[in-house]
Amino acid sequence: MNADPPAIAANPWTAHSAEVVEVVPEITGVATYHLRLTNPAVRSTYSCCPGQFNMLYLPGVGEAAISVSGYNPTTESWLHTVRTAGGVTQTLAGLGCGGKLALRGPFGSSWPIDALAGRDVVFVAGGIGLAPLRPAIDWALNHAAKFGRLTLLYGARSPATILYADQLDTWRQSGLHVEVTVDRTDAGWMGRVGVVTLLVDRLRSFDPHATGMLTCGPDVMMKYVVRSALERGLKSTNVWVSLERNMQCAVGFCGHCQLGPAFVCKDGPVFRYDRMASYLDTEAL
Ligand SMILES: Cc1cc2nc3c(=O)[nH]c(=O)nc-3n(C[C@H](O)[C@H](O)[C@H](O)COP(=O)(O)OP(=O)(O)OC[C@H]3O[C@@H](n4cnc5c(N)ncnc54)[C@H](O)[C@@H]3O)c2cc1C
Repeated sequence: MNADPPAIAANPWTAHSAEVVEVVPEITGVATYHLRLTNPAVRSTYSCCPGQFNMLYLPGVGEAAISVSGYNPTTESWLHTVRTAGGVTQTLAGLGCGGKLALRGPFGSSWPIDALAGRDVVFVAGGIGLAPLRPAIDWALNHAAKFGRLTLLYGARSPATILYADQLDTWRQSGLHVEVTVDRTDAGWMGRVGVVTLLVDRLRSFDPHATGMLTCGPDVMMKYVVRSALERGLKSTNVWVSLERNMQCAVGFCGHCQLGPAFVCKDGPVFRYDRMASYLDTEAL
């Protein structure tokens, strides 16, 4: 996976056939699908950047926007971590290994991870919002010498809904400072309880003038995360959010995902916070 600038699909309407080569159950209702493009020529040229998404197409059912959550070089497959919601994602969940589908993409803007070289980077994720951040975290850890301190603040509803639990440990061993909090605890949980915003408030070794923040999760979570970060002195020009809006075409034609002057599909999903702040405060929250 590359860093900036975002990759662009050669023809945004072309749906490439793909095969499910592995399914990794994550948490209840969420699995990661390893999708291998069937055509070797397409497979060798397809590329995408952390934060971008594909439109997954299930014939006879429809399409859904799904972020790329990683790459498996062994099987040359692109990972998509999906929560089962409606028709497309339910059909995907029923495919199993060897199942066939198609994808269009990649689409959208990417995390500006390379532009943050020389700074501390704080990743803040809520729930399944960790999925679009995972490639950016992996990329930063693979180029750790370029960055200052790398931190992940992650909030889940309960211990049972912590996504990529094993990977959090691997990341810690790779030098990522990881803090996790849950909204609701259970008997075995020894960690923090409370909203992820509290982790932003308590962040140690935080230099707002030398830090970039990338955040993804429910809108209301991002609103309060950003508010806390700004109160601690971070400039809104150093914060990026990834927005999710119902979309259909992914290329800015249909208008479903318009937010203020922007189309989330082509101008986002990753936006610098100051550019969208007024629309987030009014229309989206
Ligand atoms: C840029 C982008 C990236 C995304 N990445 C992921 C991802 O990595 N993993 C993942 O599981 N999902 C992701 N989504 C959400 C996913 O596209 C929707 O859940 C999609 O609707 C699922 O399709 P479906 O046919 O299964 O369900 P649908 O039948 O389309 O929807 C089920 C229900 O969810 C509602 N809904 C649909 N889309 C949205 C939305 N964007 N916001 C709020 N409600 C909605 C519908 O109105 C309906 O009530 C992403 C969305 C966007 C815009």
